[in-house]
Amino acid sequence: MVTTLANPTVDRARLAAGEAIQALAGELVELSRYIHQHPEPAMQETLSSAACADFLERNGFTVERGTADLPTAFRAEAGTPGGPRIAFLAEYDALPGLGHGCGHNLIALANVAAGVGLRAGLAELGVPGQVVVFGTPAEEAISGKAFMAEAGAFDDVDAALGAHPGTPEASCPTVEGSGQALACQAVRIEFRGQAAHAAADPYNGINALNAVIEVFNGINALRQHVRSDARFHGVITDGGHVPNVVPDFAAADFFVRAQTMAYMEELVGKVRRIAEGAALITGAELSFDTSEKPSWDMITNHTLATALKRNIDAVGLALPDAKAEEGSGSTDWGNVSYVVPSVETSYPIIDHMCTWHSREVVEASDSELGYTNTLLVGRALAMTGVDLVTDPALLTAIRAEFESSRATGPVTAR
Ligand SMILES: [Zn+2]
Repeated sequence: MVTTLANPTVDRARLAAGEAIQALAGELVELSRYIHQHPEPAMQETLSSAACADFLERNGFTVERGTADLPTAFRAEAGTPGGPRIAFLAEYDALPGLGHGCGHNLIALANVAAGVGLRAGLAELGVPGQVVVFGTPAEEAISGKAFMAEAGAFDDVDAALGAHPGTPEASCPTVEGSGQALACQAVRIEFRGQAAHAAADPYNGINALNAVIEVFNGINALRQHVRSDARFHGVITDGGHVPNVVPDFAAADFFVRAQTMAYMEELVGKVRRIAEGAALITGAELSFDTSEKPSWDMITNHTLATALKRNIDAVGLALPDAKAEEGSGSTDWGNVSYVVPSVETSYPIIDHMCTWHSREVVEASDSELGYTNTLLVGRALAMTGVDLVTDPALLTAIRAEFESSRATGPVTAR
């Protein structure tokens, strides 16, 4: 099924986008395979980032490297100023010790392909309009997009699109309540106490480990009294060295997550009071650190998602219908979604259900089906870019949903 638009120039531009991707398909797959074969964890994506940026530069893009002071981020731009600016967000970080077990080499492929496709579409149209491919590092840790959003990297963009590989259940978040992700804050809790002989004069000691244990007990007591979307999960990173010395230093790392930024911040406040209580009980001195940037909850723009889904259908990629469901994981796309209308569709790269962040996904990320479907989704992204540039009413509707979801949504003002 191919969507027929009234304007033949638009049709030609949509076609040109697909043809440009087809002409470069071999090279694009090689780019993705290169990233797969050189898995680089968050903030170390030197080869992967350069490979994407170089590819875009060779194909007519003007590239700025080191965007938002992140050495492995980039901004690649093409087209004519004065019209809408459409962004595609490429990721390329791998999982330490596993490799591309989340398929981010395919995310790079989909969005770089979308970039070259839309560039060709814009050339065919001959109207003002720009395409920007952002290289967004460190999704799995650090939250690269959070830094980029805060630095204003996405402020001049009208819509941001992307695609993430998944299982046969993968869908495009077209309906209200779909495409959610949890807000997430990392919390570092440290206690400093007083060392003493644990048998001879324990009364002279202040036990920092006891304070950490009380934090876990307090959070477990809190679990009964929070909404079902709340998540607390922690590990003890420091808990003393030997039994006969009262631990004078102990520490734990926690993630606190919730469906909205506002509720997540409320929960972080409760965890803080638990930690203060533990300090009071034990006499240990507390350090409570929330300086790591939070991932914001994802506000998917369903008007934009619906426009994308039309093109996913048009290129023949069959996806199940989206359904409303609570977010489970978190993503730094959330931070982008507060700044610019956003959609990240999911699509299948494997023909059966499987555990994510696994060896199976490492294999699927370098498979025939993975590359085929990723090129298709790249084409759908590019065609959506053509639609956005040529349909002002669509862009207006997307903007209106963005404004209203921010106004009525659980927004903690930036
Ligand atoms: Zn991922």
